[in-house]
Amino acid sequence: NKQIIFREFAEGIPKESDMAVKSAQLKLKVPEGRPMAVLVRNLYLSCDPFMRLRMGPQMECCFPPFERGLPLVGFGVVQIVDSTHLDFEEGELLWGLTTWEEFSLLAEPFTDAYSLFKIKDLDLPLSYHIGLLGMPGLSAYIGFYEICSPKKGEYVFVSAAAGAIGHLVGQFAKLMGCYVVGSAGSKEKVDLLKNKLGFDDAFNHNDEVDFDAALKRRFPEGIDIYFDNVGGDMLDAVLLNMRLHGRIAMSGMVSQYNLEQHQGLRNLFCAVTRRVRMEGFMIADYFDRYPEFYEEMRRYLKEGKIVYVEDVVHGIEGAPAALIGLLTGQNVGKRVVAVAPD
Ligand code: NDP
Repeated sequence: NKQIIFREFAEGIPKESDMAVKSAQLKLKVPEGRPMAVLVRNLYLSCDPFMRLRMGPQMECCFPPFERGLPLVGFGVVQIVDSTHLDFEEGELLWGLTTWEEFSLLAEPFTDAYSLFKIKDLDLPLSYHIGLLGMPGLSAYIGFYEICSPKKGEYVFVSAAAGAIGHLVGQFAKLMGCYVVGSAGSKEKVDLLKNKLGFDDAFNHNDEVDFDAALKRRFPEGIDIYFDNVGGDMLDAVLLNMRLHGRIAMSGMVSQYNLEQHQGLRNLFCAVTRRVRMEGFMIADYFDRYPEFYEEMRRYLKEGKIVYVEDVVHGIEGAPAALIGLLTGQNVGKRVVAVAPD
């Protein structure tokens, strides 16, 4: 059983040596005396920015650090190999939280409600359940439709726009009839946004020295909605460009996750004068909305309304580098690790 073990708290951008690939012997059975447990084979693992917050040590707010010497924890698509749990049967396919190894023995809290979801339809790729049809998709859906309260014709800006959440938010905004601009970290990503995903405009944040000027060029009338995935200087510049009664969905601050100390904001007072609503959200609070979201996403896909971009890395040995790459912008779309693909 190959495992990705968390070794050391990360300083700055995590290094591969902060993790280790190890092999351990494993019987493909739930051990005797372990009721309400499942042994699963991990088919796909998801690389997500919040995992950096768990690599600590300085993040205080909400995620407990990973335990040194144990496998990392993240979302995955799994198949039950053996079960002593009344709710799960051998052979069933699920998505949810699991451990970063080929096989995982999962018990509470992994088996609680809203930790593992059964996959009921097999007509779409299984990996979609940790992207478009999983936690990032739900974050894009709730974050945009609920937190941003969008209206047709509004001016929308999305950062990390070629990432798992961002590329979906931009397409939802276009479906709503908004004007949409995205920022991303390379020419390849900018081209994807403009030419394949229907964004009205996009720019490479690494090419811009003055974010305020870059936004003013693209939004001469100002921004109604900002879907913030990055925080930091981009958020500060957006505040200077918000329209009256604008909304900012605070999805995440990936530009800050590798920093020892988070940057402050200089322009926050603009939110007062322009009556801007800034609202953070944690998607775990909305898992009860999953069934409604799932049906809606399937409909979007069937009707060809949405393009989903996946970035697949093959083999569990590549998982540490895949996760680090996500934090340095190497992914295009949703990054997943195929461990034992269907
Ligand atoms: P992405 O697929 O967007 O991957 C992260 C991206 O962040 C990279 O591709 C990179 O893109 C960008 N990035 C990395 N470093 C920087 C930087 N210094 N400045 C600007 N951009 C940077 O990840 P997700 O879509 O999964 O997550 C997006 C955000 O949403 C994150 O902040 C995450 O924490 C948050 N999130 C929040 C949830 C919630 O419940 N609130 C749930 C899930 C995610 P580029 O090449 O464009 O720089």
